[in-house]
Amino acid sequence: MHYKELVELYEKIESTSKRLEKTYLVSKFLKKTIVSDLSMIILLLQGRIFPSWDERKIGVATKMVIKAISKSTGRSVDTIEETWKKMGDLGRVAEELVKTKRQVTLFQTELNVKKVFDNMRKLTTLEGTGSVDHKVGLISELLTSASPTEARYIVRNVLEDLRVGIGEGIIRDAIVWANFEEEIKVNYDSETKAITPDDREQYNKFVNIVQEAFDVVNDFAKVARIAKEEGVEGLKKLELSVGNPIKVMLYQKVTVIADAFEKVGKPAALEFKYDGFRMQIHKFDGKIILYTRRLEDVTTQFPEVVEYVKENIDADSFILDSEAVGYDQKTKKYLPFQKISQRIKRKYNIGELANQFPVELNVFDIMNFNGENIIKKPFKFRREILEKIIKPVPYKIIYAKQIITSDEQEAQNFYEEALAAGEEGIMMKNLDGIYKPGSRVGYGVKVKPVMESLDLVIVAAEWGTGKRGGWLTSYTLACVDPDTGEFLEIGKVGTGIKELKEEGTSFGEMTELLKPHIIKEKGREVKIKPVVVIEVNYEEIQHSPNYSSGFALRFPRLIRLREDRRADEVSDIELIEDLFHSQRGRG
Ligand code: AMP
Repeated sequence: MHYKELVELYEKIESTSKRLEKTYLVSKFLKKTIVSDLSMIILLLQGRIFPSWDERKIGVATKMVIKAISKSTGRSVDTIEETWKKMGDLGRVAEELVKTKRQVTLFQTELNVKKVFDNMRKLTTLEGTGSVDHKVGLISELLTSASPTEARYIVRNVLEDLRVGIGEGIIRDAIVWANFEEEIKVNYDSETKAITPDDREQYNKFVNIVQEAFDVVNDFAKVARIAKEEGVEGLKKLELSVGNPIKVMLYQKVTVIADAFEKVGKPAALEFKYDGFRMQIHKFDGKIILYTRRLEDVTTQFPEVVEYVKENIDADSFILDSEAVGYDQKTKKYLPFQKISQRIKRKYNIGELANQFPVELNVFDIMNFNGENIIKKPFKFRREILEKIIKPVPYKIIYAKQIITSDEQEAQNFYEEALAAGEEGIMMKNLDGIYKPGSRVGYGVKVKPVMESLDLVIVAAEWGTGKRGGWLTSYTLACVDPDTGEFLEIGKVGTGIKELKEEGTSFGEMTELLKPHIIKEKGREVKIKPVVVIEVNYEEIQHSPNYSSGFALRFPRLIRLREDRRADEVSDIELIEDLFHSQRGRG
């Protein structure tokens, strides 16, 4: 496929803010895409070259892209930087410069999608001496053959800053429309651009089928391919397989026990809610793989967990859900997540760090057991298996502490016991609930005393003045729209960040983290690529016309950095709406 065709689609999608219209456009495009191009197209539509769980990133700095633009257009780096300052968008700069250059050189070879994709992937593999020149060469090779509009999107693709607003929700629905158009009877009125499925119920049924297929294989490219080649039957046959990470199940939040019982029914299973980080564990063919909640492979970082799993679980193959919690060697007290978070990213001296910050694995669910998928089996059945196969050894591996009760007083006591033990609260689970990957369905709820904290991504900041000169301060925070993948601003935080490193997360540390991701500067204000995720507390959520989410946080304060969360995993706007309404209900 010619890259031009994809670029035409990008342009059309960018020019509309209507979700349904975007879906329609993407679906038409998927329909005409041949199967062998589907994987590439699905990724590029989302501005990616690797699936979301893949750790690899293009990681090219704007400086390098400027060099590439210079090389391919013959303009000096200074001129390009000047124009960039004026226009603010490096993609547009490339477009303009290629446009002026084209008037002199009319010769051009047609770019195809595969070439663009391959060059971008190569960017991720180069390291060491000479790699910078090589990378600049790969980008400028594309720009040299690009039309002005193609240049705009090549630059945005390479900088992983596509901004056309296609998230997983739109991809999912477009797969439905592209493959099951007849069954759902989509009406498109080309005049009003109104698009409606004829039969809502039927439509939702197909959306669910595609979503469920995605939840177990975690790969839209695969889902799109199967939908195209094998239809509904093929999708229904997709099963989770040991070794392939699946999306984790999420839990709703309540603040009082009575509400929890109302959601999950009586009797319910109550468990401690451990404050660590989630670990999905796969064992097959004698191999053990550990994935984070983001589905990154952290097997090497946690050698002791691999040992515990090998030694203390009696089964040949499985997928487990668990929480790894740090504890203090001497006092044996659990440690807050922040203490052990550095282990997730560590690539060297792993053994040393493991000795310093050991973790205990608290297993709370099992999704596959000896080759059999048991996500549709009741929770009590899955828990029985856990108890059968795990030999609990405190401070190494245990199954989550659990009681089963219908009694509110007993539940309250258990909750208080958990809080006294330094846990965040408790989980309450429906005994017959299935395991639903990727979804916040309500087969389980968490009971926590405080207002739900939010994970938000930083999209802008300000250079400080006076004592804070040289530091980025006052961070603008954003949540995500799960349909479009767009980031919606929700407030600014400057509280909770320390001036000295010893006291906690400091301005210096934040500045170091944020600086490489600056996209644009104007006076003291800087725009920042959404990469750094933080957890914040606040007093209240309010309506606000000042931020694109329509909400603002009252008195936000930073709790901690969330190195384990990616930008597209931050709290979504639906959660914020729910929280907003739940607080009003209380007041
Ligand atoms: P939250 O991160 O506040 O949405 O709470 C849900 C998280 O609690 C899950 O993602 C797990 O990482 C963690 N968790 C701790 N203990 C349990 C448990 N017993 N059952 C389920 N999740 C747990």
